[in-house]
Amino acid sequence: MRVLVAGGGISGTVTAMALKLAGHDPVVFEAHASGGEDIGAFLTLMHNGMDALRAIGADGPVIDASFAAFGVELVVPTGETVGRREFDTEGLDGPRTLTRATLYRVLQDEAARRGIAIERGRRLTGAKTVPGGVTAEFADGVTETGDVLVGADGLRSVVRRLIDPAADEPRYTGLTVVYGYTRAEGLPAAPGIYRMVRGSKAAFGFTTDPDGATFWFARIPDEERPRAEIAAVTPAGWRAFAHAAFAGEPLPCADIIAATGDEVFGGHSHDVPETRLWSTPEMVLAGDAAHAASPAAGQGASMALEDSVVLAKCLRDLPDPVSAFAAYEGLRRERVEKLVAASAGQDVGEERDWLYSHHIDWDAKITG
Ligand SMILES: Cc1cc2nc3c(=O)[nH]c(=O)nc-3n(C[C@H](O)[C@H](O)[C@H](O)COP(=O)(O)OP(=O)(O)OC[C@H]3O[C@@H](n4cnc5c(N)ncnc54)[C@H](O)[C@@H]3O)c2cc1C
Repeated sequence: MRVLVAGGGISGTVTAMALKLAGHDPVVFEAHASGGEDIGAFLTLMHNGMDALRAIGADGPVIDASFAAFGVELVVPTGETVGRREFDTEGLDGPRTLTRATLYRVLQDEAARRGIAIERGRRLTGAKTVPGGVTAEFADGVTETGDVLVGADGLRSVVRRLIDPAADEPRYTGLTVVYGYTRAEGLPAAPGIYRMVRGSKAAFGFTTDPDGATFWFARIPDEERPRAEIAAVTPAGWRAFAHAAFAGEPLPCADIIAATGDEVFGGHSHDVPETRLWSTPEMVLAGDAAHAASPAAGQGASMALEDSVVLAKCLRDLPDPVSAFAAYEGLRRERVEKLVAASAGQDVGEERDWLYSHHIDWDAKITG
């Protein structure tokens, strides 16, 4: 089956790799001509995300390009550490932290190594049903025909709207998130741990990689501003915005932010709590296109990876796309909506085993 995959991000590349293993013929269309933007942005793949990569043998390159954390410490506004939770990592890889640009590059390289074509600079603009499949339309005017189209095109998915023109817009969570990393020396270190700091106005988290670089993020309550205004904020602007949220507090946050150069990235955080329609007979959504969570649980990428592998298994084991898409939605919807709701309430809680222990057995058959 020729599968058109819109989006060469986390879900798109992994969906393509899993589909290829499943015996299909995927081709990926990525809107951006090159990777490497969003300097400053990084993410953490949790155990369940790494498990999904392991299911298709793609965890190795990500492990090689990332570093580990083994637990979380909680620090309150006085600077006192009030709690520590170890991740249960027995037999599991996770969490693994790396820059977003590195993760995209590693996954795209691995997909290319497996013989998957990733066509860059191909922005999907539309699609229509044709006998036996779907024809996708691109901004360059060239069309592509396949048996099905996977919308792995992220938060502002075009495919979501093609499936349901009345689909809700992503919802602003009320938080602006700023990410950064710095090689500055002399900062408080958190090797092998995520130190989560609750300031009086905002939340902060940081960890130190094995080379001594500090990776940090700040989640700051903020009023919604127009997209163009957010897009125009410079790295210095994001640094100043984040710094102001922690200035004057007896915490290391402001010092870490001040010691960061231009490797800063910020933006409003959005979620997509419920997507009424996940598929048509020829189109289906995966990752943020189907469901996006606020960053509270650090699970968006991991859930996208789970989706990708489960979708490919369904398309491998069931006789036609309609039954495959129905089985996929049945396996995924409840779990991802539970995560989005928990993240929105900032109430992911201490009991996270239901998130981390998710396991995908690639060889187990989906029976519909
Ligand atoms: C700054 C930041 C930090 C985050 N940190 C974490 C974290 O620590 N842990 C975590 O699990 N999650 C994190 N998330 C969420 C996580 O990044 C997303 O959940 C994840 O990227 C979803 O993967 P995806 O493949 O669905 O979408 P994306 O990674 O967004 O990929 C979508 C791809 O589709 C392409 N595209 C878009 N439109 C089109 C089109 N019309 N045609 C063709 N291509 C198109 C885009 O260019 C992009 O490459 C973070 C998000 C942000 C913004």
